[in-house]
Amino acid sequence: VKDKGGKNYGMYTPDMTVRLEELMELEQAMRRALHNQEFQLYYQPQVSLRDNKLIGVEALIRWHRPAQGMVSPGDFIPLAEETGLIIPLGEWVLRQACIQACRWKQAGHPAFRVAVNISPLQFRQQALAEQVLTLLQEYELEPSWLELEITESVIMQDTAAALTTLNRLKQHQVHVSLDDFGTGYSSLSYLKHFKVDMIKVDQAFVKDVSQDQDDATIISAIIAMAGKLGMKVIAEGVETQHQYDFLREEGCDYIQGYLIGRPMPAEQFDAWLEQWQAACPN
Ligand code: C2E
Ligand code: CA
Ligand code: CA
Ligand code: CA
Repeated sequence: VKDKGGKNYGMYTPDMTVRLEELMELEQAMRRALHNQEFQLYYQPQVSLRDNKLIGVEALIRWHRPAQGMVSPGDFIPLAEETGLIIPLGEWVLRQACIQACRWKQAGHPAFRVAVNISPLQFRQQALAEQVLTLLQEYELEPSWLELEITESVIMQDTAAALTTLNRLKQHQVHVSLDDFGTGYSSLSYLKHFKVDMIKVDQAFVKDVSQDQDDATIISAIIAMAGKLGMKVIAEGVETQHQYDFLREEGCDYIQGYLIGRPMPAEQFDAWLEQWQAACPN
């Protein structure tokens, strides 16, 4: 950007100054929030289409800002990734999920997986696998209590490091699932070497399955492919009975979505589970 006098101001514009200040302010607020315990995990149920039994929950972070109210993760996770704050934040999420799993285990529940979203930066950390294994030990959890959700960008950005982490986790029976499947730009060939346990069909495909034959075809193809690769399939964002029926018909393994339950605090989830089990005994 040049002014009339020909002086070079680089790429700097007043607009960007405002945005940068806002971002720095948000980052500071996030640091304080971590310290002040303003973050909380919500849990959303995942059930089997075969027998409607609970198979897991996805842990989803929430931020209660004292003055602003609830901030959605879409509004701060990307910045946390940019600034590196996702590392301490992600550690907090992992620990919190293990603490909650430990409570559920002690309450006598048979193991169900607590799925934790792991950001690309976090998955590439050499220490991640050890960190996870240490947490499992610390909270006396079998690996069947945990699942890590990654996106395909993890694989694309540093395949070697990602493979090392994946294999280390696999060795110890910690499951990994591939989130937002079908929305990235990568080729499918990576699935050959990167043997995840489960594929999560993105909600974009599920959304229009009733009206859009193409989306229905894509979902069917993903289910068929995953089955042949020995991977489970879970569909996200299931909101209607019609979507449920379609997915069941197509042989999808599991579902997650508002039709079954919204993300909720742990205490509310306990009440949900009691009702769910009473409503469908097997
Ligand atoms: P995601 O991993 O794809 O999570 C699924 C999102 O879909 C969640 O949004 C969930 O509330 C929403 N959802 C679930 N069922 C339905 C449904 O039936 N209909 C619709 N329309 N939406 C549904 P949420 O909680 O706002 O999270 C947004 C994203 O933020 C997540 O997308 C994930 O990428 C990220 N995120 C959330 N928690 C964490 C975390 O602890 N760590 C990291 N790294 N990322 C997180
Ligand atoms: Ca996820
Ligand atoms: Ca997803
Ligand atoms: Ca997503």
